[in-house]
Amino acid sequence: MATPSQQGSGSDSMEPSLTPPPESPDPSFAKKPKLAPASPRKRDIPQGVWDKCPKCEAMIFEQELEDTLKVCPHCSHHFPIGARERIESLVVSGSFEEMDAGMTSADTLEFTGTSSYASKLEKHRQKTKLNDAVITGLCQVGERRAGLAAMDFNFLGGSMGSVVGEKITRLVERSTEEQVPVIIVSSSGGARMYEGMFSLMQMAKTSAALAYHGRKGLAYISVLTHPTTAGVMASYASLGDLIVSEPKAMIGFAGPRVIRDTTQSELPEGFQTAEFLMERGLIDAIIPRRQLSERLSEYLGYLCPATA
Ligand SMILES: [Zn+2]
Repeated sequence: MATPSQQGSGSDSMEPSLTPPPESPDPSFAKKPKLAPASPRKRDIPQGVWDKCPKCEAMIFEQELEDTLKVCPHCSHHFPIGARERIESLVVSGSFEEMDAGMTSADTLEFTGTSSYASKLEKHRQKTKLNDAVITGLCQVGERRAGLAAMDFNFLGGSMGSVVGEKITRLVERSTEEQVPVIIVSSSGGARMYEGMFSLMQMAKTSAALAYHGRKGLAYISVLTHPTTAGVMASYASLGDLIVSEPKAMIGFAGPRVIRDTTQSELPEGFQTAEFLMERGLIDAIIPRRQLSERLSEYLGYLCPATA
């Protein structure tokens, strides 16, 4: 019999599983002759040069997508964007002074599921070249100096653990000291379950820091991007003096399926989209990504007295 473990070597790099992969149920499949390479499609398109829009299915030249800040030029679908690209798209070039760049998570609970938290962290550090799911720093947005945090969904789903909470808190405290406004661009699946209660505590900590910042009469603009949910939405993301969102972002606390099952009722059309929440007053404005820098700078102009 063929040994299935010799096959599918492409999965070797996947995270280790506690249970071995199941045996092939029907050995005859294992002996199936190899099909001819599935390449009747045009081979003159080099790989990695084109991206397909998941919304309108148009093929977009990668360089074009970079130039449009990853917004589909045909249907305006907003592709995900990383924290570094986000910061570059918002600040005056060369003005960003990163804070706490080397801060990394401790695996206090020594959490282990299908793989250990420590190994997940290491894998995501290598994959994203980030130390955790947020980058923070002081910068210039238009004519104003501001504290800026940008979350990155690629790092463990943008989840908020101790590092995300601490970096955001330090940024807000520093902005309070320097009397500058704060902008936080959120993108998160919520609290980081691998850190248990420690991640939930970040909700209170970040909220308190923002309250002190607000008491000094300093502005905070929360920018929601797809998706912003759970513990992040239930703390700093919903506390902005202004709350703005990218178009069509999914914003909510629990997922729609959980809510449908709990309430045993059909959810209204467009539930948990930015547009739905703007109609109902939670979100103040929906801003396409390419206008975000300009609009934020405009808002800061209204909200913050000009410094001498
Ligand atoms: Zn499109």
